[in-house]
Amino acid sequence: MSRFLGKAAAALAPYVPGEQPQDMQYIKLNTNENPYPPSPSVQALLREYSAVRLRLYPDPECAVLRDAMAHAHGLEPEQVFVGGGSDEVLGFAFMAFFDKGDRVYFPDITYGFYSVYAQLCGLEAVCVPLCEDFTVAPEDYSQKDGHIVIANPNAPTGIALTPAQVEEILQSNPDKLVILDEAYVDFSAGKTCVPLLKRYRNLLVVQTYSKSRALAGMRIGCALGDRALIADLNRIKYAFNPYNLDHISLAVGVASTKDHIYLRETTDKIVKTREKTRKILTGLDFAVLPSEANFLFARHTARRGKDLYLALKQRGILVRHFAQERISDFVRITVGTDADMEILRQTLEELGGTK
Ligand SMILES: *Cc1c(COP(=O)(O)O)cnc(C)c1O
Repeated sequence: MSRFLGKAAAALAPYVPGEQPQDMQYIKLNTNENPYPPSPSVQALLREYSAVRLRLYPDPECAVLRDAMAHAHGLEPEQVFVGGGSDEVLGFAFMAFFDKGDRVYFPDITYGFYSVYAQLCGLEAVCVPLCEDFTVAPEDYSQKDGHIVIANPNAPTGIALTPAQVEEILQSNPDKLVILDEAYVDFSAGKTCVPLLKRYRNLLVVQTYSKSRALAGMRIGCALGDRALIADLNRIKYAFNPYNLDHISLAVGVASTKDHIYLRETTDKIVKTREKTRKILTGLDFAVLPSEANFLFARHTARRGKDLYLALKQRGILVRHFAQERISDFVRITVGTDADMEILRQTLEELGGTK
């Protein structure tokens, strides 16, 4: 900490990302990356990409990518905002829609970034406890005196609300903004709330290309919503970083967006592996939450979460452990390939059930 660090920055508790070991020798099941490569059309594009284009600034309006996304979702391009990962999109949304001192409601167990952004923007974060079974109760979000942020499916639990339950929240808060973070929605058949945008102007849906589209290394995210909301997000972007997506990200984003078939094939494979792995874990004395994402949140009946995380790490498998009340005995396991999961199974069997 230098003597120049501002008071507000000094008071921040920044987000702690999952480990990203650069030596690549782990089976990496800790940050919900996709085990499969990006679409073959993305790979072809990058093989042929000419660096000459990089001399020029990219299109600040990101028109080609917004058009492609709008087409894929049945929306107008004016209903699409793109950012450098959904983290940036969420950050812009917090800056655009929430004023210092505003209340913002989100679950006590959810994506860690929401509380960081709330702090950064000087908001009053109100954590709403999840139910005993780790579900979000829509009635807990009825008629709030602040805005609402919900990850759906939630992280790290993987449990999703149905669009009907989300609609209940939207209806009971007509004058509040509901931000729905759909980072994992492609793994939860039929759970996207994008169709609700037709009827609710207080809904902003945020999605990412990092998980289901295997582009975590590229940084592409988007917000979908009413034109006025999208225009507001652009105000912030043009006040902060107008060229927020580079040439390559724009081109890669378009190629990935257009390949619906590959997205479907790879997410289907991951969902199948998830369900197989859920059974295996249950057979190995884990209690596993009903995940609709590309990870499983599981608690061993006899082993502490931290010990399990460390024992797996020692044996070359990285999973995520959260030292947080209520969930400290869980580990979050990203769904890898069938081969990854087989090694996980063997390793867990070797570890046995007791300390
Ligand atoms: C991974 C994740 C994000 C961030 O994704 P990026 O697009 O890579 O920034 C946002 N929200 C949730 C719930 C996530 O799990």
